[in-house]
Amino acid sequence: MPVNCASDIATCRYLVIDDDAPTVQRIMTVLSELGATTVDSVNNINTALGRITKTTEHPDIIICALSIPNGVAFFRHLEEKQFVGGIVLISNKSERILRMGSNLAQAQHLNVLGSLLKPFTEGALLNVLAHFKGPKAIFSPLPQSILTPEALLAAIEQDQLVPFFQPKVSVKTGKLVGVEVLARWQHPEHGLVSPGLFIPVAEEHGLVGLLTQNILSKTFRLIAAHPKAGRTVPVAVNLSALMLSDIDLPMRIKDELDMIGIDPSNLTLEITESGLCENMISSLETLLRLNFKGIRLSIDDFGIGYSTFEQLHTMPFSELKIDRIFVTGAAQDGEEYMFFQSVVMLAKKLGLTTVAEGVETQEDWDVCRQLGCDVAQGYLIGRPVLAETFLNTPQSAPHWQVGKNRLRQPRIGDRSRILEHP
Ligand code: C2E
Ligand code: CA
Ligand code: CA
Repeated sequence: MPVNCASDIATCRYLVIDDDAPTVQRIMTVLSELGATTVDSVNNINTALGRITKTTEHPDIIICALSIPNGVAFFRHLEEKQFVGGIVLISNKSERILRMGSNLAQAQHLNVLGSLLKPFTEGALLNVLAHFKGPKAIFSPLPQSILTPEALLAAIEQDQLVPFFQPKVSVKTGKLVGVEVLARWQHPEHGLVSPGLFIPVAEEHGLVGLLTQNILSKTFRLIAAHPKAGRTVPVAVNLSALMLSDIDLPMRIKDELDMIGIDPSNLTLEITESGLCENMISSLETLLRLNFKGIRLSIDDFGIGYSTFEQLHTMPFSELKIDRIFVTGAAQDGEEYMFFQSVVMLAKKLGLTTVAEGVETQEDWDVCRQLGCDVAQGYLIGRPVLAETFLNTPQSAPHWQVGKNRLRQPRIGDRSRILEHP
């Protein structure tokens, strides 16, 4: 059984991946002094992947050198294998390389405990290991064999897809301005499945239109039945850029909104920047039609694609969501901070609302405030929760007191329940 608390780090299973023998030796010595008995080391990624694939006894913590060949591709493999343990990154290059590696691993939904620049002290390693609070078992480790298009189609038809809501709040006032809708697959045997696993299957097998329709309909029905503070909760739904080739989509969405009685201005569609870049011209017609129908459009994950502001300015977007790799930890990283700052400045000039994703700490929140970002979203404010739970819990938006973090500004209190425009 995996361990559950930091004090159990001695009983964790460890895998050390580095081709630098003296470093491996030092880590092994520290771990054995800690009392760790299950410690393995390999000097290349292929062997590491073999270790992780072949055994059900996965390591709890992987200590991995970034400079090892294919070290970066390794994160993608770990995500595909739904690795839920902790990762410690080590490098002999620079703090900057470590930060970039750490951001990349986090973007692949890995549980990064910390990073260490060589040579590091025993105390520094112990400090990082102490961040391990047990595996991140939010989602089910679904066997790949179950992730088939047939199973996903059946799941949609059997109503197993559920919308989760995550609050978005105004940075100026702290009030709730809306929610992002995040799809989850409530699998009857395997529990909650991450959209990171099933959305790619839906996109590849032509099911993403049906899936989105399903999530949209459920969301519309819920928010129409449960207004908050007497108003419909504005919702932001993710739209695969692939769907922009469907020019009838705007009409179908508008018809459904009209039927349920929701004003289109309460709906924002988030489309990832990278998807847009691929189909810019063919997408424009659908984007314009959505815009004419009064539906708001947002550019998602901004900063990791290749679009320029000039390109984006020609498209009818009203909001820009800055990818969380530029937001989480921005206070500690000069380059991320500068990118974040310039995006907010330019977006303002273009009249776009800015939304920061991945606001995890008070420091992240403070940066949003300093830079004049309009809206914040992230674990500090509230994690995604089942839509019904969100709508039925009076205090559910936002959860101001997450762990030890208490937002200094805005004031904690009931005001946060009131909806307002950013
Ligand atoms: P996204 O649109 O970028 O959604 C935000 C993701 O960041 C969500 O992951 C959310 O749980 C996570 N997140 C929120 N706050 C924080 C934070 O403070 N720190 C960190 N590290 N992460 C945070 P999730 O729910 O796993 O969704 C993953 C992606 O799946 C979404 O990324 C979106 O691209 C896609 N997705 C989800 N639902 C749908 C859907 O209905 N349709 C489509 N096409 N895509 C969807
Ligand atoms: Ca999104
Ligand atoms: Ca995003």
